Amino acid sequence: MAAKRKLSVLFVTSEAAPLVKTGGLADVSGSLPGALMAQGAEVRVLMPGYPAVMEGVKAKGRLAALPPMGELPGCQLLAGKLPGGVPLFIVDCPPLYRRPGGPYQDLTGKDWADNDLRFGLLCYVAALLSGANSPISWRPRILHCNDWQSGLAPAYLNFMPGEKARSVMTIHNLAYQGVYPAVTLSRVGLPPSAFAAAGVEYYGNLSFLKGGLHYADHITTVSPNYAREIQREPLGMGLQGLLAHRADRLTGILNGIDTDSWDPESDPYIAKYYNSVRLPVKLENKRALQSRLGLLAADDIPLIGSVGRFTHQKGFDLILQCAQALLELPVQLAVLGSGDAELQDAFQQLARSNPGKVGVQIGYDESLAHQIEAGADIFLMPSRFEPCGLNQMYSQRYGTPPVVHATGGLVDSVIDCTPQSVADKSATGFLFSPMTPEAMLAGVNRALAAWRDKKLWRQLQKNGMARDFSWDASAERYLELYTSLLAEQPA
Ligand code: ADP
Repeated sequence: MAAKRKLSVLFVTSEAAPLVKTGGLADVSGSLPGALMAQGAEVRVLMPGYPAVMEGVKAKGRLAALPPMGELPGCQLLAGKLPGGVPLFIVDCPPLYRRPGGPYQDLTGKDWADNDLRFGLLCYVAALLSGANSPISWRPRILHCNDWQSGLAPAYLNFMPGEKARSVMTIHNLAYQGVYPAVTLSRVGLPPSAFAAAGVEYYGNLSFLKGGLHYADHITTVSPNYAREIQREPLGMGLQGLLAHRADRLTGILNGIDTDSWDPESDPYIAKYYNSVRLPVKLENKRALQSRLGLLAADDIPLIGSVGRFTHQKGFDLILQCAQALLELPVQLAVLGSGDAELQDAFQQLARSNPGKVGVQIGYDESLAHQIEAGADIFLMPSRFEPCGLNQMYSQRYGTPPVVHATGGLVDSVIDCTPQSVADKSATGFLFSPMTPEAMLAGVNRALAAWRDKKLWRQLQKNGMARDFSWDASAERYLELYTSLLAEQPA
Protein backbone atom coordinates (compact mmCIF):
# COMPACT_ATOMS: atom_id res chain seq x y z
CA MET A 1 0.00 0.00 0.00
CA ALA A 2 1.30 3.47 -0.86
CA ALA A 3 2.44 5.51 2.12
CA LYS A 4 -0.19 8.01 3.25
CA ARG A 5 0.71 11.39 1.76
CA LYS A 6 0.95 14.27 4.21
CA LEU A 7 -1.80 16.82 4.04
CA SER A 8 0.21 19.68 2.55
CA VAL A 9 -1.32 23.16 2.52
CA LEU A 10 -0.20 26.39 0.88
CA PHE A 11 -1.79 29.20 2.92
CA VAL A 12 -1.78 32.42 0.92
CA THR A 13 -2.22 35.71 2.71
CA SER A 14 -1.49 39.41 2.33
CA GLU A 15 -0.87 39.92 6.06
CA ALA A 16 0.18 37.88 9.09
CA ALA A 17 0.56 38.95 12.72
CA PRO A 18 2.93 39.99 14.16
CA LEU A 19 4.81 41.01 10.97
CA VAL A 20 2.12 42.87 9.01
CA LYS A 21 -1.35 43.62 10.37
CA THR A 22 -4.26 45.77 9.28
CA GLY A 23 -7.15 43.56 10.44
CA GLY A 24 -8.49 40.20 11.51
CA LEU A 25 -6.93 38.38 8.55
CA ALA A 26 -3.51 38.97 10.12
CA ASP A 27 -4.63 37.31 13.35
CA VAL A 28 -5.98 34.30 11.50
CA SER A 29 -2.81 34.02 9.39
CA GLY A 30 -0.68 34.31 12.51
CA SER A 31 -2.54 31.53 14.36
CA LEU A 32 -4.34 29.07 12.07
CA PRO A 33 -1.29 27.73 10.14
CA GLY A 34 0.44 26.82 13.40
CA ALA A 35 -2.72 25.16 14.74
CA LEU A 36 -3.01 23.15 11.51
CA MET A 37 0.60 22.03 11.84
CA ALA A 38 0.02 20.99 15.44
CA GLN A 39 -2.62 18.61 14.09
CA GLY A 40 -0.28 17.05 11.58
CA ALA A 41 -0.70 19.14 8.42
CA GLU A 42 2.34 20.36 6.52
CA VAL A 43 1.77 24.08 6.01
CA ARG A 44 3.65 26.77 4.12
CA VAL A 45 2.47 30.37 4.33
CA LEU A 46 2.98 32.45 1.18
CA MET A 47 3.11 36.23 1.40
CA PRO A 48 4.65 39.25 -0.35
CA GLY A 49 8.12 40.47 0.62
CA TYR A 50 7.08 43.81 2.09
CA PRO A 51 9.86 45.62 3.99
CA ALA A 52 8.39 44.41 7.32
CA VAL A 53 8.61 40.81 6.10
CA MET A 54 12.11 41.14 4.66
CA GLU A 55 13.34 42.73 7.90
CA GLY A 56 11.28 40.60 10.27
CA VAL A 57 12.38 37.26 8.79
CA LYS A 58 16.11 37.08 9.33
CA ALA A 59 17.20 33.77 7.81
CA LYS A 60 16.05 33.48 4.21
CA GLY A 61 17.11 31.01 1.52
CA ARG A 62 16.55 31.33 -2.21
CA LEU A 63 14.27 28.66 -3.64
CA ALA A 64 13.68 29.74 -7.24
CA ALA A 65 13.72 32.61 -9.70
CA LEU A 66 10.45 33.17 -11.58
CA PRO A 67 10.36 34.91 -14.99
CA PRO A 68 7.97 37.81 -15.80
CA MET A 69 4.44 37.02 -16.98
CA GLY A 70 2.09 39.58 -18.60
CA GLU A 71 3.00 42.81 -16.84
CA LEU A 72 3.95 40.91 -13.70
CA PRO A 73 7.68 41.40 -13.13
CA GLY A 74 10.05 38.53 -12.49
CA CYS A 75 10.64 37.68 -8.84
CA GLN A 76 12.48 35.44 -6.43
CA LEU A 77 10.87 32.87 -4.20
CA LEU A 78 12.53 32.86 -0.77
CA ALA A 79 12.05 30.49 2.17
CA GLY A 80 12.09 31.51 5.83
CA LYS A 81 10.02 31.14 8.98
CA LEU A 82 7.28 33.21 10.58
CA PRO A 83 8.09 34.37 14.14
CA GLY A 84 6.05 31.45 15.53
CA GLY A 85 8.12 28.96 13.52
CA VAL A 86 5.71 28.21 10.66
CA PRO A 87 7.59 27.82 7.34
CA LEU A 88 7.15 30.83 5.11
CA PHE A 89 7.54 31.38 1.37
CA ILE A 90 8.20 34.99 0.42
CA VAL A 91 7.52 36.48 -3.01
CA ASP A 92 10.45 38.87 -3.28
CA CYS A 93 9.76 41.48 -5.94
CA PRO A 94 11.40 44.83 -5.02
CA PRO A 95 9.65 46.91 -7.75
CA LEU A 96 6.24 45.88 -6.35
CA TYR A 97 6.76 45.40 -2.62
CA ARG A 98 9.91 47.14 -1.38
CA ARG A 99 8.49 50.58 -0.54
CA PRO A 100 7.53 52.48 2.63
CA GLY A 101 3.86 52.38 3.64
CA GLY A 102 1.27 49.72 4.40
CA PRO A 103 0.45 46.52 2.54
CA TYR A 104 -2.37 48.17 0.58
CA GLN A 105 -1.76 51.89 0.89
CA ASP A 106 0.99 54.47 0.78
CA LEU A 107 1.97 56.62 3.75
CA THR A 108 -0.84 59.10 2.99
CA GLY A 109 -3.50 56.35 3.11
CA LYS A 110 -4.00 56.15 -0.67
CA ASP A 111 -4.32 52.71 -2.25
CA TRP A 112 -1.23 51.75 -4.22
CA ALA A 113 -2.06 52.36 -7.91
CA ASP A 114 -0.54 49.00 -8.87
CA ASN A 115 -2.33 46.82 -6.30
CA ASP A 116 -3.66 44.72 -9.19
CA LEU A 117 -0.09 43.77 -10.09
CA ARG A 118 1.08 43.52 -6.46
CA PHE A 119 -1.59 40.97 -5.60
CA GLY A 120 -1.85 39.55 -9.11
CA LEU A 121 1.73 38.38 -8.65
CA LEU A 122 0.95 36.85 -5.25
CA CYS A 123 -1.94 34.93 -6.86
CA TYR A 124 0.11 33.81 -9.84
CA VAL A 125 2.95 32.48 -7.68
CA ALA A 126 0.45 30.71 -5.40
CA ALA A 127 -1.12 28.94 -8.38
CA LEU A 128 2.25 28.11 -9.92
CA LEU A 129 3.39 26.42 -6.70
CA SER A 130 0.13 24.46 -6.61
CA GLY A 131 0.36 23.00 -10.12
CA ALA A 132 2.37 20.52 -12.13
CA ASN A 133 4.82 23.17 -13.42
CA SER A 134 5.94 24.34 -10.00
CA PRO A 135 9.61 25.37 -9.94
CA ILE A 136 10.09 23.67 -6.54
CA SER A 137 9.66 20.11 -5.38
CA TRP A 138 7.36 20.82 -2.39
CA ARG A 139 3.79 20.51 -3.63
CA PRO A 140 0.61 21.46 -1.74
CA ARG A 141 -2.48 19.30 -2.02
CA ILE A 142 -4.59 22.20 -0.75
CA LEU A 143 -4.29 25.82 -1.88
CA HIS A 144 -5.93 27.96 0.81
CA CYS A 145 -6.60 31.55 -0.29
CA ASN A 146 -7.72 34.43 1.92
CA ASP A 147 -9.69 37.52 0.89
CA TRP A 148 -9.46 39.33 -2.45
CA GLN A 149 -5.69 39.67 -2.40
CA SER A 150 -5.33 35.95 -3.16
CA GLY A 151 -8.65 35.62 -5.03
CA LEU A 152 -7.16 35.19 -8.49
CA ALA A 153 -5.05 32.18 -7.46
CA PRO A 154 -7.88 29.64 -8.07
CA ALA A 155 -8.50 31.38 -11.44
CA TYR A 156 -4.87 30.95 -12.54
CA LEU A 157 -4.89 27.39 -11.25
CA ASN A 158 -7.98 26.59 -13.32
CA PHE A 159 -6.07 27.36 -16.52
CA MET A 160 -2.91 25.46 -15.57
CA PRO A 161 -2.37 22.02 -17.08
CA GLY A 162 -1.77 18.78 -15.21
CA GLU A 163 -2.24 17.66 -11.64
CA LYS A 164 -3.06 20.45 -9.23
CA ALA A 165 -4.07 21.25 -5.67
CA ARG A 166 -7.68 21.56 -4.55
CA SER A 167 -8.51 25.16 -3.64
CA VAL A 168 -10.29 26.87 -0.75
CA MET A 169 -11.26 30.56 -0.74
CA THR A 170 -11.92 32.10 2.68
CA ILE A 171 -13.87 35.35 3.09
CA HIS A 172 -12.75 37.39 6.09
CA ASN A 173 -14.06 40.71 4.84
CA LEU A 174 -16.59 40.83 2.02
CA ALA A 175 -16.52 44.62 1.94
CA TYR A 176 -13.23 44.60 0.01
CA GLN A 177 -13.44 42.79 -3.32
CA GLY A 178 -10.43 43.95 -5.35
CA VAL A 179 -12.31 45.36 -8.34
CA TYR A 180 -10.20 46.71 -11.24
CA PRO A 181 -10.83 47.81 -14.83
CA ALA A 182 -11.07 45.09 -17.49
CA VAL A 183 -7.55 45.88 -18.72
CA THR A 184 -6.19 44.25 -15.57
CA LEU A 185 -6.94 40.88 -17.15
CA SER A 186 -4.09 41.17 -19.66
CA ARG A 187 -1.87 43.03 -17.16
CA VAL A 188 -1.94 40.01 -14.85
CA GLY A 189 -1.74 37.55 -17.74
CA LEU A 190 -5.07 35.73 -17.37
CA PRO A 191 -6.58 34.31 -20.59
CA PRO A 192 -9.47 36.21 -22.26
CA SER A 193 -11.83 33.31 -21.54
CA ALA A 194 -11.55 34.08 -17.81
CA PHE A 195 -13.35 37.37 -18.43
CA ALA A 196 -16.86 35.97 -18.24
CA ALA A 197 -19.84 35.98 -15.91
CA ALA A 198 -18.71 32.45 -15.06
CA GLY A 199 -15.24 33.79 -14.28
CA VAL A 200 -13.58 36.94 -12.97
CA GLU A 201 -15.87 39.47 -14.70
CA TYR A 202 -18.03 41.64 -12.44
CA TYR A 203 -20.22 44.29 -14.08
CA GLY A 204 -17.64 44.94 -16.80
CA ASN A 205 -14.72 45.00 -14.37
CA LEU A 206 -12.38 42.34 -13.04
CA SER A 207 -13.00 41.26 -9.45
CA PHE A 208 -10.27 39.37 -7.63
CA LEU A 209 -12.66 38.10 -4.99
CA LYS A 210 -15.30 37.02 -7.48
CA GLY A 211 -12.61 35.05 -9.30
CA GLY A 212 -11.84 33.18 -6.10
CA LEU A 213 -15.49 32.58 -5.29
CA HIS A 214 -16.15 31.24 -8.77
CA TYR A 215 -13.09 29.07 -9.36
CA ALA A 216 -12.30 27.76 -5.86
CA ASP A 217 -13.34 24.19 -5.13
CA HIS A 218 -14.76 25.37 -1.81
CA ILE A 219 -15.59 28.68 -0.10
CA THR A 220 -15.45 29.32 3.61
CA THR A 221 -16.19 32.27 5.81
CA VAL A 222 -15.53 32.90 9.47
CA SER A 223 -18.81 31.77 11.03
CA PRO A 224 -21.68 29.48 10.01
CA ASN A 225 -24.36 32.13 10.52
CA TYR A 226 -22.47 34.71 8.43
CA ALA A 227 -22.15 32.05 5.71
CA ARG A 228 -25.96 32.04 5.53
CA GLU A 229 -26.33 35.82 5.80
CA ILE A 230 -24.04 36.59 2.85
CA GLN A 231 -26.24 34.60 0.51
CA ARG A 232 -28.82 37.42 0.71
CA GLU A 233 -28.93 41.18 0.59
CA PRO A 234 -27.67 43.35 2.19
CA LEU A 235 -24.75 41.39 3.67
CA GLY A 236 -23.87 39.66 0.39
CA MET A 237 -22.50 43.02 -0.76
CA GLY A 238 -23.32 42.37 -4.42
CA LEU A 239 -22.02 38.78 -4.41
CA GLN A 240 -25.10 37.20 -2.81
CA GLY A 241 -26.23 35.64 -6.12
CA LEU A 242 -22.97 33.80 -6.66
CA LEU A 243 -22.72 32.81 -3.00
CA ALA A 244 -26.28 31.44 -2.97
CA HIS A 245 -25.57 29.59 -6.21
CA ARG A 246 -22.56 27.95 -4.56
CA ALA A 247 -24.33 27.33 -1.24
CA ASP A 248 -23.41 23.63 -1.31
CA ARG A 249 -19.76 24.71 -1.52
CA LEU A 250 -19.92 27.35 1.21
CA THR A 251 -19.05 26.53 4.84
CA GLY A 252 -18.76 28.72 7.91
CA ILE A 253 -15.93 27.93 10.33
CA LEU A 254 -15.76 30.04 13.47
CA ASN A 255 -12.40 31.73 14.11
CA GLY A 256 -10.50 30.93 17.25
CA ILE A 257 -8.90 33.38 19.66
CA ASP A 258 -5.37 33.62 21.01
CA THR A 259 -5.98 31.86 24.32
CA ASP A 260 -2.47 32.67 25.58
CA SER A 261 -2.76 36.44 25.23
CA TRP A 262 -6.37 36.39 26.42
CA ASP A 263 -6.26 34.40 29.63
CA PRO A 264 -7.53 35.84 32.94
CA GLU A 265 -5.22 33.46 34.80
CA SER A 266 -2.06 35.04 33.38
CA ASP A 267 -3.00 38.31 31.64
CA PRO A 268 -0.20 40.78 32.45
CA TYR A 269 -2.46 43.78 31.80
CA ILE A 270 -5.05 43.04 34.49
CA ALA A 271 -4.99 43.97 38.19
CA LYS A 272 -5.63 40.47 39.61
CA TYR A 273 -5.53 37.06 37.96
CA TYR A 274 -8.61 34.88 38.35
CA ASN A 275 -10.31 31.81 36.98
CA SER A 276 -13.69 30.15 37.18
CA VAL A 277 -13.12 28.85 40.71
CA ARG A 278 -11.72 32.16 41.96
CA LEU A 279 -14.39 34.36 40.43
CA PRO A 280 -14.88 36.70 43.41
CA VAL A 281 -11.33 37.99 42.67
CA LYS A 282 -12.71 39.48 39.45
CA LEU A 283 -14.13 42.30 41.58
CA GLU A 284 -10.58 43.63 42.08
CA ASN A 285 -10.44 44.16 38.34
CA LYS A 286 -13.74 46.05 38.39
CA ARG A 287 -12.38 48.36 41.08
CA ALA A 288 -9.14 48.90 39.14
CA LEU A 289 -11.09 49.73 35.98
CA GLN A 290 -13.35 52.16 37.83
CA SER A 291 -10.26 53.84 39.21
CA ARG A 292 -8.46 54.00 35.84
CA LEU A 293 -11.45 55.56 34.08
CA GLY A 294 -12.49 57.91 36.89
CA LEU A 295 -15.70 56.02 37.60
CA LEU A 296 -17.34 56.04 41.01
CA ALA A 297 -15.97 53.27 43.24
CA ALA A 298 -19.15 51.23 43.61
CA ASP A 299 -19.26 47.44 43.68
CA ASP A 300 -23.03 47.33 43.46
CA ILE A 301 -23.53 49.35 40.26
CA PRO A 302 -23.22 47.10 37.22
CA LEU A 303 -20.41 48.14 34.90
CA ILE A 304 -20.96 47.71 31.16
CA GLY A 305 -17.89 47.68 28.92
CA SER A 306 -17.51 48.06 25.17
CA VAL A 307 -14.41 48.06 22.92
CA GLY A 308 -14.07 48.39 19.19
CA ARG A 309 -13.65 50.42 16.05
CA PHE A 310 -16.04 53.38 15.84
CA THR A 311 -17.60 52.48 12.51
CA HIS A 312 -21.18 52.07 11.33
CA GLN A 313 -20.65 48.30 11.48
CA LYS A 314 -20.02 48.21 15.21
CA GLY A 315 -23.25 50.03 16.19
CA PHE A 316 -21.77 52.34 18.84
CA ASP A 317 -24.38 54.90 17.76
CA LEU A 318 -27.00 52.65 19.37
CA ILE A 319 -25.22 52.91 22.72
CA LEU A 320 -25.28 56.70 22.40
CA GLN A 321 -28.99 56.68 21.60
CA CYS A 322 -29.69 54.63 24.72
CA ALA A 323 -27.12 56.27 26.95
CA GLN A 324 -29.51 58.22 29.20
CA ALA A 325 -31.86 55.28 29.60
CA LEU A 326 -28.90 53.03 30.43
CA LEU A 327 -27.49 55.42 33.02
CA GLU A 328 -30.85 55.62 34.75
CA LEU A 329 -30.98 51.84 35.29
CA PRO A 330 -28.42 52.64 36.81
CA VAL A 331 -25.23 51.32 35.21
CA GLN A 332 -21.72 52.61 34.62
CA LEU A 333 -20.23 52.65 31.11
CA ALA A 334 -16.61 51.98 30.13
CA VAL A 335 -15.97 52.60 26.42
CA LEU A 336 -12.73 52.27 24.44
CA GLY A 337 -12.57 52.91 20.73
CA SER A 338 -11.51 55.11 17.87
CA GLY A 339 -12.60 55.90 14.35
CA ASP A 340 -15.52 58.04 13.22
CA ALA A 341 -14.83 61.59 14.51
CA GLU A 342 -18.50 62.31 15.28
CA LEU A 343 -18.78 59.21 17.46
CA GLN A 344 -15.52 60.05 19.22
CA ASP A 345 -16.83 63.56 20.03
CA ALA A 346 -20.22 62.26 21.13
CA PHE A 347 -18.70 59.71 23.54
CA GLN A 348 -16.32 62.29 24.98
CA GLN A 349 -19.26 64.65 25.47
CA LEU A 350 -21.22 61.86 27.17
CA ALA A 351 -18.34 61.28 29.58
CA ARG A 352 -18.04 65.00 30.37
CA SER A 353 -21.76 65.28 31.12
CA ASN A 354 -21.78 62.18 33.31
CA PRO A 355 -18.68 62.29 35.49
CA GLY A 356 -18.16 59.17 37.55
CA LYS A 357 -20.73 57.28 35.50
CA VAL A 358 -19.22 57.15 32.01
CA GLY A 359 -15.53 56.50 31.34
CA VAL A 360 -14.37 56.93 27.75
CA GLN A 361 -10.96 56.56 26.18
CA ILE A 362 -10.41 57.40 22.54
CA GLY A 363 -7.56 55.59 20.80
CA TYR A 364 -6.12 52.10 20.50
CA ASP A 365 -5.04 50.74 23.87
CA GLU A 366 -4.26 47.06 24.27
CA SER A 367 -3.99 47.23 28.08
CA LEU A 368 -7.34 48.97 28.54
CA ALA A 369 -9.03 46.52 26.15
CA HIS A 370 -7.90 43.67 28.43
CA GLN A 371 -8.85 45.59 31.58
CA ILE A 372 -12.36 46.23 30.27
CA GLU A 373 -12.82 42.55 29.45
CA ALA A 374 -11.69 41.64 32.98
CA GLY A 375 -13.24 44.52 34.92
CA ALA A 376 -16.67 44.99 33.36
CA ASP A 377 -19.66 42.98 34.60
CA ILE A 378 -21.29 42.90 31.17
CA PHE A 379 -19.79 43.35 27.70
CA LEU A 380 -21.94 45.18 25.12
CA MET A 381 -21.48 44.50 21.39
CA PRO A 382 -24.28 45.90 19.21
CA SER A 383 -22.65 45.20 15.81
CA ARG A 384 -24.92 45.71 12.78
CA PHE A 385 -23.06 42.87 11.12
CA GLU A 386 -20.15 40.77 12.35
CA PRO A 387 -18.48 38.05 10.23
CA CYS A 388 -17.06 36.45 13.40
CA GLY A 389 -16.11 38.96 16.12
CA LEU A 390 -13.51 38.42 18.80
CA ASN A 391 -14.52 40.58 21.75
CA GLN A 392 -17.57 38.47 22.58
CA MET A 393 -15.31 35.40 22.81
CA TYR A 394 -12.77 37.23 24.97
CA SER A 395 -15.55 38.43 27.27
CA GLN A 396 -16.93 34.91 27.80
CA ARG A 397 -13.41 33.69 28.58
CA TYR A 398 -13.11 36.52 31.12
CA GLY A 399 -16.40 35.74 32.89
CA THR A 400 -18.01 38.91 31.51
CA PRO A 401 -21.23 37.76 29.83
CA PRO A 402 -21.89 39.64 26.60
CA VAL A 403 -25.04 41.35 25.36
CA VAL A 404 -24.87 41.20 21.56
CA HIS A 405 -26.97 41.91 18.48
CA ALA A 406 -28.13 38.61 16.97
CA THR A 407 -26.02 38.76 13.82
CA GLY A 408 -23.18 36.90 12.10
CA GLY A 409 -20.68 35.10 14.29
CA LEU A 410 -22.23 36.58 17.44
CA VAL A 411 -25.12 34.15 17.00
CA ASP A 412 -22.70 31.23 16.70
CA SER A 413 -20.55 32.14 19.68
CA VAL A 414 -22.96 33.45 22.33
CA ILE A 415 -25.65 31.18 23.76
CA ASP A 416 -28.70 33.20 24.72
CA CYS A 417 -29.91 32.95 28.30
CA THR A 418 -33.30 31.19 28.23
CA PRO A 419 -34.99 28.87 30.74
CA GLN A 420 -33.85 25.96 28.55
CA SER A 421 -30.20 27.08 28.23
CA VAL A 422 -30.06 27.88 31.94
CA ALA A 423 -31.41 24.42 32.74
CA ASP A 424 -28.86 22.64 30.55
CA LYS A 425 -26.04 24.97 31.70
CA SER A 426 -25.20 26.22 28.22
CA ALA A 427 -26.27 29.90 28.55
CA THR A 428 -23.37 32.35 28.20
CA GLY A 429 -24.92 35.73 27.32
CA PHE A 430 -27.79 37.69 25.80
CA LEU A 431 -28.79 38.14 22.16
CA PHE A 432 -31.03 40.99 21.07
CA SER A 433 -32.88 41.68 17.85
CA PRO A 434 -33.86 43.75 15.90
CA MET A 435 -31.11 46.34 15.74
CA THR A 436 -33.04 49.04 17.64
CA PRO A 437 -32.36 51.01 20.83
CA GLU A 438 -35.45 49.41 22.43
CA ALA A 439 -34.28 45.87 21.70
CA MET A 440 -30.78 46.65 22.96
CA LEU A 441 -32.17 48.11 26.18
CA ALA A 442 -34.34 45.03 26.62
CA GLY A 443 -31.22 42.88 26.18
CA VAL A 444 -29.33 44.89 28.80
CA ASN A 445 -32.31 44.67 31.15
CA ARG A 446 -32.39 40.91 30.81
CA ALA A 447 -28.68 40.83 31.63
CA LEU A 448 -29.17 43.06 34.68
CA ALA A 449 -31.98 40.86 35.99
CA ALA A 450 -29.63 37.88 35.72
CA TRP A 451 -26.78 39.86 37.32
CA ARG A 452 -28.93 40.50 40.40
CA ASP A 453 -29.46 36.75 40.75
CA LYS A 454 -25.94 35.96 41.97
CA LYS A 455 -26.27 32.20 41.59
CA LEU A 456 -27.52 32.45 38.02
CA TRP A 457 -24.82 34.99 37.16
CA ARG A 458 -22.04 32.74 38.47
CA GLN A 459 -23.43 29.96 36.34
CA LEU A 460 -23.45 32.15 33.20
CA GLN A 461 -19.88 33.23 33.91
CA LYS A 462 -18.72 29.65 34.42
CA ASN A 463 -20.51 28.40 31.30
CA GLY A 464 -18.74 31.04 29.20
CA MET A 465 -15.33 30.46 30.79
CA ALA A 466 -15.58 26.73 30.12
CA ARG A 467 -16.09 27.14 26.36
CA ASP A 468 -13.35 26.16 23.94
CA PHE A 469 -12.59 29.13 21.67
CA SER A 470 -9.09 27.90 20.87
CA TRP A 471 -7.69 27.72 17.35
CA ASP A 472 -7.41 23.94 17.78
CA ALA A 473 -11.17 23.62 17.38
CA SER A 474 -11.17 25.75 14.19
CA ALA A 475 -8.13 23.95 12.78
CA GLU A 476 -9.95 20.65 13.21
CA ARG A 477 -12.86 21.96 11.08
CA TYR A 478 -10.48 23.16 8.35
CA LEU A 479 -8.69 19.80 8.32
CA GLU A 480 -12.02 18.00 7.97
CA LEU A 481 -12.85 20.24 5.02
CA TYR A 482 -9.46 19.71 3.34
CA THR A 483 -9.79 15.96 3.81
CA SER A 484 -13.27 15.88 2.32
CA LEU A 485 -12.09 17.89 -0.71
CA LEU A 486 -9.22 15.48 -1.30
CA ALA A 487 -11.57 12.52 -0.94
CA GLU A 488 -13.59 13.81 -3.90
CA GLN A 489 -10.61 13.16 -6.16
CA PRO A 490 -8.72 9.95 -6.80
CA ALA A 491 -5.37 10.23 -4.98
P1 ADP B 1 -12.90 43.83 13.91
O1 ADP B 1 -11.85 42.86 13.44
O2 ADP B 1 -14.06 43.98 12.98
O3 ADP B 1 -12.34 45.15 14.34
P2 ADP B 1 -13.21 42.01 16.17
O4 ADP B 1 -14.11 41.98 17.35
O5 ADP B 1 -13.17 40.78 15.33
O6 ADP B 1 -13.57 43.26 15.26
O7 ADP B 1 -11.74 42.29 16.64
C1 ADP B 1 -11.38 43.53 17.15
C2 ADP B 1 -10.08 43.40 17.90
O8 ADP B 1 -9.45 44.67 17.97
C3 ADP B 1 -10.28 42.94 19.30
O9 ADP B 1 -9.13 42.25 19.70
C4 ADP B 1 -10.41 44.27 20.05
O10 ADP B 1 -10.15 44.17 21.41
C5 ADP B 1 -9.41 45.09 19.34
N1 ADP B 1 -9.68 46.53 19.38
C6 ADP B 1 -10.55 47.23 18.63
N2 ADP B 1 -10.50 48.54 18.95
C7 ADP B 1 -9.59 48.65 19.93
C8 ADP B 1 -9.07 49.75 20.68
N3 ADP B 1 -9.51 50.99 20.50
N4 ADP B 1 -8.11 49.50 21.60
C9 ADP B 1 -7.67 48.24 21.79
N5 ADP B 1 -8.11 47.17 21.12
C10 ADP B 1 -9.05 47.37 20.20
